[in-house]
Amino acid sequence: MTDEIDRAQALEEQLRADALREQARRAALAGKTAADSAAECVDCGEPIAPARRLAVPGCQRCVVCQARAERGLNRGLCDGD
Ligand SMILES: [Zn+2]
Repeated sequence: MTDEIDRAQALEEQLRADALREQARRAALAGKTAADSAAECVDCGEPIAPARRLAVPGCQRCVVCQARAERGLNRGLCDGD
């Protein structure tokens, strides 16, 4: 049982790391810098961690909201970027 939870957590971390890398890659292609990153999440208004703003230049959402948006759960709630 514990093994399953460990595996699920490892997978979740892997997916998160992959998503972060992909976001960073896209931001670099778009010529974004950390200065383009929002200080607060556009969805929930929570401060975005400085490490995330550096890692994902141009990011506008916190990790939680970004993951939610990418899974499509925000569809219909926000009017798009
Ligand atoms: Zn947020």
